[in-house]
Amino acid sequence: MKIAVIGGGLTGLTAARELREFCKVTVFEPHWLGGLASSYCRDNYCIEKFYHHCFRGDDELLDLIKDLRLASKLEWRIARVGYELNGEVYPLNTPVEILRYPGMSFTDKLKLSLFTLRSRNKNYEKFDDIGVIEGISKELGEGLYKRFFYPLLRGKFGENYGLVSYAWLLARVAIRSNRTMKGEKLGYMRRGFHQLIERIVEGFEIRNERAKIQKGSRWIVNGEEYDAVIYTAPLPELGEIIRTEAGVEDIRYQSSICCLVGSESTITEDIYWTNLSSGVIFGAIIEHTHFMPFEDYGEHVIYFAGYTTPDSPLMIMGEDEIAKVILKDAGKFGLKSEDVRWVKVFRAKYSGPIYEKGYLRKITPYRTSLPGFYIAGMTSKPNYPERSMNGSIAAGKEVAECVIEDYFS
Ligand SMILES: Cc1cc2nc3c(=O)[nH]c(=O)nc-3n(C[C@H](O)[C@H](O)[C@H](O)COP(=O)(O)OP(=O)(O)OC[C@H]3O[C@@H](n4cnc5c(N)ncnc54)[C@H](O)[C@@H]3O)c2cc1C
Repeated sequence: MKIAVIGGGLTGLTAARELREFCKVTVFEPHWLGGLASSYCRDNYCIEKFYHHCFRGDDELLDLIKDLRLASKLEWRIARVGYELNGEVYPLNTPVEILRYPGMSFTDKLKLSLFTLRSRNKNYEKFDDIGVIEGISKELGEGLYKRFFYPLLRGKFGENYGLVSYAWLLARVAIRSNRTMKGEKLGYMRRGFHQLIERIVEGFEIRNERAKIQKGSRWIVNGEEYDAVIYTAPLPELGEIIRTEAGVEDIRYQSSICCLVGSESTITEDIYWTNLSSGVIFGAIIEHTHFMPFEDYGEHVIYFAGYTTPDSPLMIMGEDEIAKVILKDAGKFGLKSEDVRWVKVFRAKYSGPIYEKGYLRKITPYRTSLPGFYIAGMTSKPNYPERSMNGSIAAGKEVAECVIEDYFS
């Protein structure tokens, strides 16, 4: 029995790992192992191309880290969050900081905390056909939407924010956070998640090739026959014909741009994640070396991160050109050009689904209408309401269980 896994991101690598004892598995990956969770390496350290951290509730990820004997590398640290308003960054972590924040009235803050508590008990699925702007405005008023949610939604979905469902927001708010009185604790693998990718790849074949899939009496991938195919790459890359025959709904994706900078100075004093309310290409500044120790890097490592659409001119602009635009905007927030040591721009055309109205009906099933053709990844159930490393590991495991049930039990 031979299985082809299309895509060497966390979904594909996990599925291959789960199936390696049952059959011969070949993973096809044309770019980098780890996909969106892959890293960029400097001489003395590696760092994720797109910022990454994890949460206490990420059971599948934490189990995998343990299985790969990497648990000692995982650290939980307070990740301080800030909110930029009219050019000023306000920390929003402790109760005192929240009370002091001038962007909202005391009544708005109270309304917001009650909304958070209520959301935990709401059946969010009922709100899948309601738009997020309508839902928030009705429940909390237009003022709170504009002052608080709009910049956050824009930072998370770029210009697609208005498409998102209210169900998504409720489901997202309901995820319990690991809060202390000093702020939220997030997890990170000391010296980078690339260590996880390096360890996961044992026991199966990897081909550094873009997969071309054809249907025959068996499945044919790049000219070779396979009994089954697990497709984990973005759905738009699958092509209309196979997607339609597979009976799978089309899903709209958003794109990511992360401009990564090595710098001699920082932007804020101690904030990891700053949400921006001013309209620039990026919606957030993520100062990695305010989360993990500066000594591990020997310089400050800062992301300027934003979301856009796959057809945006920003996705095809030359790297130097886009870096110039981003650095100019970054200067407005305090990045000193004379302190910048290096700049890299990473872009992902299909970086996550847009959780738009009606999304819950479109979630991709593992088994499709085509026998022997399975799909898993960012549009699978475990990646709702947030696509994540944990969700993709869960999807990889669950699709492997389907294959084992269909062929080996
Ligand atoms: C900006 C950003 C920040 C993020 N931050 C976090 C975070 O803090 N915490 C967290 O848990 N998650 C985070 N994520 C999400 C996480 O990285 C992803 O959910 C997860 O890595 C997706 O894995 P995947 O295997 O499902 O998809 P992908 O990583 O997209 O893997 C799919 C693979 O398929 C390959 N492929 C495409 N076409 C073909 C083809 N024809 N043939 C073969 N292969 C093909 C691609 O090259 C890619 O490697 C973030 C993502 C982004 C973009």
